[in-house]
Amino acid sequence: MSNLLICPSCGKECEKLIRSLCPACFSAKYDLFEMPLVFHVRVCPECGAFYHKNKWEDGENIEEIIMMLSREVLLINTDIDNVSVGMQPVARTPYIYDLYVDVDGTIEGVPVYKDGKTEVRIKREACDMCSRKAGGYFEAVIQIRGTNRQPSKEELSECRKLTSATLEQLDRKGDKLAFVSDIVELKEGTDYYIGSTNAARQLCRRIIDLYGGTVSESYTLAGMKDGKEAYRTTFAMRLPEFKKGDVIYYDGKVIEIRNCARRITGICLADGSGFFEESDVMKNVIRLGNVDEDAMDAVLISEEGNAVQVLDPVTFETVTIRKPMVFNALPGSEIKVFRSEYGLFALRSRPQNGPAY
Ligand SMILES: [Zn+2]
Ligand SMILES: [Zn+2]
Repeated sequence: MSNLLICPSCGKECEKLIRSLCPACFSAKYDLFEMPLVFHVRVCPECGAFYHKNKWEDGENIEEIIMMLSREVLLINTDIDNVSVGMQPVARTPYIYDLYVDVDGTIEGVPVYKDGKTEVRIKREACDMCSRKAGGYFEAVIQIRGTNRQPSKEELSECRKLTSATLEQLDRKGDKLAFVSDIVELKEGTDYYIGSTNAARQLCRRIIDLYGGTVSESYTLAGMKDGKEAYRTTFAMRLPEFKKGDVIYYDGKVIEIRNCARRITGICLADGSGFFEESDVMKNVIRLGNVDEDAMDAVLISEEGNAVQVLDPVTFETVTIRKPMVFNALPGSEIKVFRSEYGLFALRSRPQNGPAY
C-alpha cells in the first residue's frame, strides 16, 4: 500500500515532498546552485601564472585553473546534503571555454540533481613578473672577469649553463625575480643583468664553488621603490688567474693544474708528484700555456720503465722523458707533449676527443 502525497503547487502525487513541494516543483522554485553566466580568467602566456585575489599565482594547467576558480564562484544551495560537484571545461577556442557543471545531493533524504553551463573567457596578459622581465628590470649585475687574463670560452659557457640552471631552481623555489634580463658579452668577460639581488648572490657563490675566484659587491642608488631608496648591486667576479689544464712554472717546478677551486692542485710534470697550494700564497708564477690549447704531437720511439723516448716535434732530436702515470700509447704512434723553455714533458693519455681531466 503506497503512501502518496499530493503536491500543493502542481497537484501531482509523489512519494515525498521537499519543503512541501514535489521534487520537480522544488527544483523549479529553488536553485540548487548559482553560477555567473560568464566569468573571466586572466592567465600569463609567458609563465602560466593566473590572477587570483588581487595577485598573480603560479599555475600550469589552464583547465585546472578554470576549475579551481569556478569552485570559488559556484554557490551551492546550503539545504543540500551529500553534495557532489562535477565540472568539465571544454575549449571552444583558446580564449573561450564552456564549463559544464553538475551538482547532485539530497534534500530531506530525496535525491536532487541539476546541471548547467558557464562561459569562461580567458584573457592572456603578461603577469607582473613577466612584464618586469620584458621591461628589462634588474636589481643586480654580475661581471664575470678573469684575474690577469680573459675568461676562457669554456668557462663562459659553463657560467651560462650554471646561470640558467640556478635561476630556474630559485624561480621554482619562489624567487619570481630570479631571471636574466640581459646578457652583455664584452672582450674582457660577460655581464649578467639579474632580476633579484639574492639570486645573483647565490649564483656568484656557485660559480666560485666551480672555479674558485673572488667576488666583491658594490651598490649604486637606482631610485625609489615603495617609498624607500632602491639600490642596485654590482657583483665583480674574478675567476682565478689559473684554470684547469694550465701549465705553470712555480718554485722551480713545471706544474699542470688539475683543479683551482679555492686551492690549487696539480701534478709536477717532471716527476709526477702531486702539487697542492693555497692560491693567495703563490707569487712569481709564470704561466707557460695550457695542455688543451698548446699540446703538440710527438712520435713515441720506445717505452722503458718510467721513461719514454720521443722525437722532439721541433728539433727532431730523440729525447728521454718521464712516462706519465696514465699512459697507453704504442711505439710508432703519436703522443701529446708540452714543450716549454723548461723542457719537454709527456702528457698523460686521455680519451680521444674526450674532455681533458
Ligand atoms: Zn509539484
Ligand atoms: Zn608571467
